[in-house]
Amino acid sequence: MFSNDIGIDLGTANILIFKKGEGIVLNEPSVLAINDETKEILAVGSEAKEMFGRTPGKIKAIKPLKDGVIADFEATEILLDSLIRKINAKGFFIKPKILICCPTNITEVEKNAIREAAEKTGARKIIIEEEPKVAAIGSGIDISSSSGHMIVDIGGGTTDIAVLSLGDIVVSESIKIAGNAFDNEIIKYIKDKYNLLIGESTAEEIKKKIGSVNNEIKKNKMEVKGRDLIKGLPGKIFITSEEISISLRKCVNEIIRAIKHVLEQTPPELSSDIINSGIVLTGGGSLISGLSEILTEELNVSVKVSKEPLTAVALGTGIMLENCCF
Ligand code: ADP
Ligand code: MG
Repeated sequence: MFSNDIGIDLGTANILIFKKGEGIVLNEPSVLAINDETKEILAVGSEAKEMFGRTPGKIKAIKPLKDGVIADFEATEILLDSLIRKINAKGFFIKPKILICCPTNITEVEKNAIREAAEKTGARKIIIEEEPKVAAIGSGIDISSSSGHMIVDIGGGTTDIAVLSLGDIVVSESIKIAGNAFDNEIIKYIKDKYNLLIGESTAEEIKKKIGSVNNEIKKNKMEVKGRDLIKGLPGKIFITSEEISISLRKCVNEIIRAIKHVLEQTPPELSSDIINSGIVLTGGGSLISGLSEILTEELNVSVKVSKEPLTAVALGTGIMLENCCF
């Protein structure tokens, strides 16, 4: 039987689309660029991200899902529609079923808006699924068992912590400290210490290249260019991974505090399962060097990064589309 069913990871930083029978067919930043005067859409996804921070006055780059909530309905709808269109260049033979995972802390109103946006793309059926469940499935966890599992998804806008058992979320918490907050702390550190102003993309690049949250792990350094705030001219400095770990300490402590809070609310039987099975980290933010080590030490539980942290949710939608009869 020919099927066009698709799974969508509607992330705050990246949108991924999984097509049943094919795998991940699209992976692009959740960004669009518009002309602020005419409201014309200039670019979506990767092309729009290139424009971020470099756009001239009337071109605005927007991240509609910025902090894990839908900050801009219309833009989300346009983004979703353009990206689905992109993978559907030849047109679907039959209308697809769409499984969408969206940020955990969205309201019913926002959920309905996503449903409406997906309906407009011509879907036959739309299922909205809770992201931690799908992230767990995509990380290879059997969530249907009665054993308790904890998954911590560190994305762009939010870190979502959830304890799962028998296919459901038992306890969860979402905080707005994740990859974007890491970038902002790096910007702040460099500004305060070196009087150098850098953009979000540069901060993200530093984080990915030499970022660490554990100054004992590895030492690296990198040249960073920006605007010298005293001279007002372009300037450059060298920054070390150790300095990045200092700048990110507050964020890491917030994540630890939130995980502890969820563990405190977890029923004892499930806590003992988590001690046995360990905590699984997923989402792009979990790729920062030294995080699993520091969490293992602070929480006294084994913490591991899932095999494919950036694609776990999309892969999870794939597994659900293959196995479930929605
Ligand atoms: P979302 O689900 O919110 O869209 P993702 O799971 O796609 O988020 O993760 C995006 C975040 O992961 C971004 O903040 C990005 O900078 C960060 N990230 C991606 N790769 C790395 C890396 N190698 N090291 C540190 N952070 C990373
Ligand atoms: Mg995500």
